[in-house]
Amino acid sequence: MPDAPLICSRANPVFRQRPDSSAGLINSTVSGTNFNDRYSRQSILPGIGESGQRAIAAAHAVVVGCGALGCGIIDQLARAGFGRLTLIDRDIVEWSNLQRQTLFDEADADSGQPKAVAAHRRVRAVNSDVEVAAHIADLNSENAGELLLGSAKPDLILDGTDNLETRYLLNDLALKHGIPLIYGGVIARRGMQMTIRPGRGPCLRCVFPEPSSNGEIETCDTAGVLGAAVGIVSSLQAAAAIEMVGSPDRETKPCLIEFDLASTRFRTIDLSAFSDPASRAECICCGKRRYEFLSGERTRPAVTLCGRGSFQIPAAGSRIDLSRLASKVATVAPVTANEFFVRIAPRPGVEMTVFADARAVVRGTANEGEARALYDRYVGA
Ligand SMILES: [Zn+2]
Repeated sequence: MPDAPLICSRANPVFRQRPDSSAGLINSTVSGTNFNDRYSRQSILPGIGESGQRAIAAAHAVVVGCGALGCGIIDQLARAGFGRLTLIDRDIVEWSNLQRQTLFDEADADSGQPKAVAAHRRVRAVNSDVEVAAHIADLNSENAGELLLGSAKPDLILDGTDNLETRYLLNDLALKHGIPLIYGGVIARRGMQMTIRPGRGPCLRCVFPEPSSNGEIETCDTAGVLGAAVGIVSSLQAAAAIEMVGSPDRETKPCLIEFDLASTRFRTIDLSAFSDPASRAECICCGKRRYEFLSGERTRPAVTLCGRGSFQIPAAGSRIDLSRLASKVATVAPVTANEFFVRIAPRPGVEMTVFADARAVVRGTANEGEARALYDRYVGA
């Protein structure tokens, strides 16, 4: 049993003082007294200190995906004082996002703001010292290098994505360029988190060698997701980032953390066995150094225009169980199905027809990025 309950008392009056606004400190930058006051509850933690806080202020993190996980990560990294954030997302804010995507409000959903733009504005309001860049883009093997590496290699990448292909792409890029990657995933009431340190432990493909096949994957749109579960995973990811940069001497073992709030079960799977390079020799990514998703070898072919306002998502190489897909989607969107296809109507005027070879035709969307996003949402990437 614990010795005592955890409380957050106000025992230390030093940290209760506000900055002296008459001395012009309110708007001071990272070098001013305000810096020490602002981050005092974090820098007082053993292992961080002022030097750790300065390291955080000098660090550059890329957050891929500004959805549920991304919102939690971005908010916490901005508040923790990360000096530079690069945000990448392809979607716009919808009303169904507001239940869990904590950076957005009703005005964002009403006006259909791009998530990257709304997140950028929110970061500026939360912490004006953060240098933040936002990209409205569908990350793929062709633009990943430019978007993530830009003019300088970032210190770490955080995964806030909603599809497996992008996750494996990030894993490839992180391993190839030696950048730590903080993975997180959440669905329904379950979540998991794992930190990938290239050369020092397992990568995503050491633990999950292959993505699941299309149609078998649950998505938040078909299985639902509890906002509180999102909060746990994004907090684990943000904590991993803050500790990695601010407390680099802290001993950490490679592990996979997973939980299910339905049973209040939390589990930490020790992955120390992967610390030995020999144990990773068979991994196609970090052992054999084949970057299938980054090279385009395993990337889905491009979406093509097939008539006015219609886009075709090509066959993916694996077949779909149509009756299973139909029953999965029927709980969240109107569906018609027969032995040849499943037709989904995500909203009035938009229709997606999915065939057994995983090909789909999407009608009524504004662009190919939206067509791809709908496919990922209902069929799974
Ligand atoms: Zn590996």
